Order: sequence, then structure tokens, then C-alpha cells
Amino acid sequence: MTGTRNLCFLICLALLPLALAAQPAESPPRRMPNFVILFADDLGYGDLSSYGHPSIRTPNLDAMAAEGQRWTDFYVASAVCSPSRGALLTGKQPNRSGLYGHRSRVLFPNQAGGISEENTTIAEALRELGYATGIVGKWHLGARPEHLPTRHGFDYWFGIPYSNDMDGTDERVPGAYFSPRIEYWNVPLMQSQSVGQEYHDQILERPARQETITRRYTQQAQEFIDRHSDRPFFLFVPYTMPHTPLFPAPEFAGTSLAGRYGDVIEEIDWSAGEIRRSLERAGVAEDTLVVFTSDNGPWLSMRTDKGTAGPLRNGKGTTFEGGIRVPGVMWWPGSIQPGVVRDIGSAMDLFPTLLALAGGTTEDILDGVDLSGTLLRGEPGTREVLAHYRAGELYALRKGPYKIHLITEKAYGIGPERNEHETPLLYHLGEDPGESWDLAAERPEILAEMLEAVREHQAAMETRPSLFDSR
Ligand code: MG
Repeated sequence: MTGTRNLCFLICLALLPLALAAQPAESPPRRMPNFVILFADDLGYGDLSSYGHPSIRTPNLDAMAAEGQRWTDFYVASAVCSPSRGALLTGKQPNRSGLYGHRSRVLFPNQAGGISEENTTIAEALRELGYATGIVGKWHLGARPEHLPTRHGFDYWFGIPYSNDMDGTDERVPGAYFSPRIEYWNVPLMQSQSVGQEYHDQILERPARQETITRRYTQQAQEFIDRHSDRPFFLFVPYTMPHTPLFPAPEFAGTSLAGRYGDVIEEIDWSAGEIRRSLERAGVAEDTLVVFTSDNGPWLSMRTDKGTAGPLRNGKGTTFEGGIRVPGVMWWPGSIQPGVVRDIGSAMDLFPTLLALAGGTTEDILDGVDLSGTLLRGEPGTREVLAHYRAGELYALRKGPYKIHLITEKAYGIGPERNEHETPLLYHLGEDPGESWDLAAERPEILAEMLEAVREHQAAMETRPSLFDSR
């Protein structure tokens, strides 16, 4: 199967009217909903007020969490940028899609690797159903023309192809992250459009003026909503911040109680509120599911320019909870069953969930599950097991409240001590969300059950060669 396009992928566009007609009477057919995914970069589990931050104010996201669903156990598939984004867009573990690297854990400018034609993205699937598709923000799945978002399902892209600390210039001073200047990082701001069989790509400015980037992403998102309010749309907004270097807009600089990091988060919260108000003004709020989450946990080596994982252990780069569990806010007025959801959810679940809500199907093998029953009717989640990989290797697995660590490694930038555990670590995430007390010796029957779950998972996983390492 590897190396050949998976022809099983099929969306039953022709069958859509039948599928809608077959819905039970209590859920009348609706127009295909719009989807907006707001995706912060390196924002930690504990960085929103509604997730317990004591000083950062996030009233817009908190209101959306209160009116919609606030997920306590929402995960990304990787603790670093590129594979996490690939998993969100494909609904697959990085191993299964090939969107991971052994040598390159994330993609760097000028690298040959990146997303391939064989990866089907949620944007491609929704476009097949008639959706307008746009992305405003950071891509990070390859910077060559064939990797850009407009080649992978998006009609329109405005944003930066990779992280805002790449393309470092010689002007950088030691500690440049902590006294940041725009000219230290020569990152391009790009615009790209897919028109028929053609692509129009241009670099709008270089270096990107990062202190206005969140505001301009917001304006672009609002314009996209206004342009497409008469047809179903999918809008993906992967913010460049709070990945360091941090550049809050002048109106936000120095205004929070939590320093430059807090200023940046409060600006992202403002942005989420502006996008919400655009949906309301356009009269499509009740037809739109908005998701807010983050690509990985906080980058803990960034002094005071970092977020917090709250009660969770560690941060970006590790498969401890602080690296992979993130806020998960779902908002859809009039349709969502409001509440706090304590079931396991994953960014990989967004692909099958959005596709199901749009009335599409796929026969492709996904690692995501459809969450629409929980979103619309408050049904218990269907996911019991979630595996956690790092650089193509299985490190940990959660089943119900328990989590087993086969291999552990510290957070990004804080030392790469790798430990392959002869006896795996076992934690109960309900009793011990901070993963501080190993239960392996006390609960051998649970350990055996977890090892069986690992074997079952591995038997069902088909790993593809890395697409990031290719030269
Ligand atoms: Mg990130």
C-alpha cells in the first residue's frame, strides 16, 4: 500500500441527499455547517483562564467554552509542530501518514521533505463536498511549492510557511529570543491562491512584520468569512504565536499581568472574539462549529516567554501530559450540547468529525474517531485508547484513566535524556494528573492489561517511511 495513492478514499457526494434524508426525525437536515479551527502554537494546557491560569485574561475563549464544550482531556498527536499539524489535517497518527521525521522532528526551511500527494487532508475532503477552504497562518508541512497549502486542499492561504524563529539572520544577538527584533528572523509572509489548475504564489514581505501578524491573520479570517457566508466554508487559523519570539501588537504590549507571553495570549483571545463576532454579523454563527486548540504544550526553556501546562507534567517535546494535552474548546450556538467533557478527544478526531457533520464518508483508515455524538447530543466519547508517538516511535499509550510509558524523554530544550523503561511507568491520570507516582509495582494486573493494549495497537498500526527525512 505504501507508495501508492490510497484509492479507497471516497466521498459520497452523490449520496449526500440520501444520507440527509435518512437522518432521524429529531435531527432535521441542516445545511452543511461551516468549520473554523483556531490553532495556537505552543500554547499550554493551563494558559487560558477557563483552564486555570491565574493571571492571563481570556474572556472570549472562556465564553465560548462556557456556551459550548470545554474538553479536559483533549490531545494532539505529537508534542512538536509539524507532525501535530499533519495529524490534525489527515486524521492519522504521524506514523501512518508518514508526516514525521527521525532526523528532522520538525521541518526546516530549504528542506526537501513535506506533505505528499498521498496524504488526503480534511481540506481536500471538504472541498470535494463543495466547501470553500482557506488557511490563514502558519503551515509548517513543507516550504517547497508542491508542499504549500494550496496544493493540499486549500483554495487560499495567507501566512508564514514555518516557525517564526526560523531563517535566523546574522544580526541576531545572544539571547535573541528574549530581546526580539523583527529583522532577526527573515521569515516570509506569503499569499497563495489555487485558481483552476494554476497556483499564484507571492511573497508579500520579508521579514514578516511579526508584531502585526495576529491582527492581520484576524482581518484575513474575517474577510474570508465575509466572502464565503453564502456557501459552506472551512477556515483553518493556525496562529504564529505564542511560539517564540513573541511579538504582541503595540495595543497589547505591556497590558497583561503575565508579561510578553500574557500579552500575546490576550491578543489571540481578542482575535478569537473578533472572529466570533464576524460569524455573528454574517448571520452564520449558528451554522458554524468553531474549535480552539493548540499544536503542542509550552516550550519550557523559554524563561518567562513561555506558557504553562497547569497541573500537567513537563511541556513541548515530551509525551508526558504537558507536551500533548491541550485546551479543547468547541463552540456552535444552538447545536452543541454545552458542558465540560471529560472524555478523551484528539486533534486527529477533527477529520472524521467534520467529515461526518458535512455528510461525507471515507473508507480510508484513520486514527481519529467521530466525536459528533458527543458534540451534538452529549453522548459518551467512543475513544478508549490513544497512543502517543515521538519521532515515529511508540512512547506511551493511554487507555481509560491509565497511561503507560514505554519510553520517556524530557521536554524540548531541557535535555534529551532518553529512558527505555524495562518495567514501563504506569500512572492513573484521574488520581494523578501530574504523573508523579508510578503504580506499575502496585497494580500489576493493570500493567498487564495496558501491555496487551500496546500489543493490540501495534498490531493494527501500519507505519510508513518518514516524509520529513526524505532528501
Ligand atoms: Mg508548536
